[in-house]
Amino acid sequence: MVTRYILFDLDNTLYPRECGLFHLIEERIKEYLRIRLGLTHAESAALRHKYLRAYGFTLVGLMNHHGIYPEDYLTFVHEVDVEGVLGEDRGLARMMSRIPLKKVIVTNSTQRHAQRVICSLGVEPFFAHIFDIAFMDYIPKPNPASFHKVMNHLGVRGGECLMVDDHPPTLATARALGMTAVYVGRGEQVEADYQIEEIKGLEGVLMDLQLIGERGVAR
Ligand SMILES: [Mg+2]
Repeated sequence: MVTRYILFDLDNTLYPRECGLFHLIEERIKEYLRIRLGLTHAESAALRHKYLRAYGFTLVGLMNHHGIYPEDYLTFVHEVDVEGVLGEDRGLARMMSRIPLKKVIVTNSTQRHAQRVICSLGVEPFFAHIFDIAFMDYIPKPNPASFHKVMNHLGVRGGECLMVDDHPPTLATARALGMTAVYVGRGEQVEADYQIEEIKGLEGVLMDLQLIGERGVAR
């Protein structure tokens, strides 16, 4: 089956974890738990840990056990200085311009946050679509339901997609659905078809798959 689409995760995938943006979001998540649920620092950290273990996503625990409205949570936790942290990444834009496959973003965050990130990086023209957590009915990756919604919308099967993500469980789902899985990060022994330390390694993966030629020419 021919690869037609590249599905990109957003946070810690299009930009490196080390830049600290996602850390700011994590701080906002803990602040949300303190303010909305009246928890102490220690309690908010413990509750977040518990929901991450149980559901893989803090929001799901908050919706299931506290009746939290997802948009209230999502708006609050993404109020961080994206533009102050992320600058234009011309190298990334050049790489994207050399990849002739269709590109979309699949993120457990919001449309607005994704827009801010890709605009700050200067890569927004390259993405045909942003599939956010609202589109996925607040059922986050790695739940296969989220992938099915995206694939149905695009009219593609798993074998026609390549998924790029920093979250190993998401890549496991992607592989189970027949996608080619590319892990971005420094974790060890991740179950993926390819492992790259940063997003700019993707071009080498696509050459290896013969999806682009040495000079980025479509084959
Ligand atoms: Mg991520």
